[in-house]
Amino acid sequence: MDAEHGMSAAGTARRQLLQKAALLLGVFTTSRARAAPCAPPDEANSGLRKSLNYTESSPNPAQRCSGCSFFSDPQGDCGRCMIFSGPTSVNGHCDSWAARG
Ligand code: SF4
Repeated sequence: MDAEHGMSAAGTARRQLLQKAALLLGVFTTSRARAAPCAPPDEANSGLRKSLNYTESSPNPAQRCSGCSFFSDPQGDCGRCMIFSGPTSVNGHCDSWAARG
């Protein structure tokens, strides 16, 4: 094998490695996007969500968690609810919704 052919083979191998890495990164980010990021952290929290009729998708677009005074720390599609002391969807809603002042 001459030097030019060796460098070409190394370039091809590097390209293939980068393509595989990009593919894996795409699969990883897609699977993260599909995950349920706002799942209740524990059973007690789950009961509270249920009693307040929490839903991940508000039936009223004007009353989403993102516009609630108890909502904080938005990160992507999730944030934190002070009442639940846990994660909630930016598009969620519950009976305790209160307009952000
Ligand atoms: S209190 Fe507000 S932020 Fe918390 S779940 Fe209910 S609507 Fe969403």
